[in-house]
Amino acid sequence: MSSSRRGFLREIAGSVRDVTAAAQSAAPREPAAAPIDDARLERYSRQLVLPEWSEAAQRALADASVVVVGAGALGSPVALYLAGAGVGRLGIVDADDVELSNLHRQLLHFTPDLGVPKAHSAAAKLGFLNPEVVVEPYQVSLEPGNAAGLIEGADLVVDCSDSFETRYAVNAACCAARIPLVEAGVLGMSGLVMGIRPGEGACYRCAFPAPPPDAPSCATAGVLGPAAGVIGSLQALEALKLLAGLPDPLTDAFLQIDLAAADFLRVTVSRRPDCPDCGDA
Ligand SMILES: [Zn+2]
Repeated sequence: MSSSRRGFLREIAGSVRDVTAAAQSAAPREPAAAPIDDARLERYSRQLVLPEWSEAAQRALADASVVVVGAGALGSPVALYLAGAGVGRLGIVDADDVELSNLHRQLLHFTPDLGVPKAHSAAAKLGFLNPEVVVEPYQVSLEPGNAAGLIEGADLVVDCSDSFETRYAVNAACCAARIPLVEAGVLGMSGLVMGIRPGEGACYRCAFPAPPPDAPSCATAGVLGPAAGVIGSLQALEALKLLAGLPDPLTDAFLQIDLAAADFLRVTVSRRPDCPDCGDA
């Protein structure tokens, strides 16, 4: 990066610091954080220049620990974007091995990975993308019995699983531990995304109290690769918004996405006092 470019980025980062310092001058002082070094400044330069982003947001990401449940069609774009953006620690939970029928939509895995556990295949690619990120592969299936242990200590969970059973287990564990969660699902050319802040707003079970009867699977109904890419990318975006404290996250609502018709519908949902996962009982 040229010195003038670096200077430009430092100027922007500095002005954000000045504004933040002025706004917080009356508040108790935290110890000053070390400035971001040149290599990181260049790696993250295109998000640091965003008016919505800042060095503080970048540091929040670097300090964050995120668990991604599922390293498949949604988990691939989610993990790639979170690692690329500089999330400090990524846990990747997936019990399956890479199969030939995965490759048209699961961008973390390539033909030479056939038969390799997805958690390990994902960790290898994410390490190439951003060696600064600590990636922890967990070759295990998330279930009600182990969900609390797998998400313990996480700042955020992104559920990229493909079954309602897993989704409800992740939601219940995140509600119990008060860990923010981004849910999503994709099938065919449609799906949904929902951000959840347990204790503050509606959870997945508030919005969907029971799974639909006879829900089809990707194996029977199919899924188009770019449809999973769009929905996984939206999921990654909402995760970054929650981690960096950006305004207007997709909470107390879900986005219903019909990509065959290129139609996006935001559906407002409310917390249910009688919700078994997040309710008052
Ligand atoms: Zn709920």
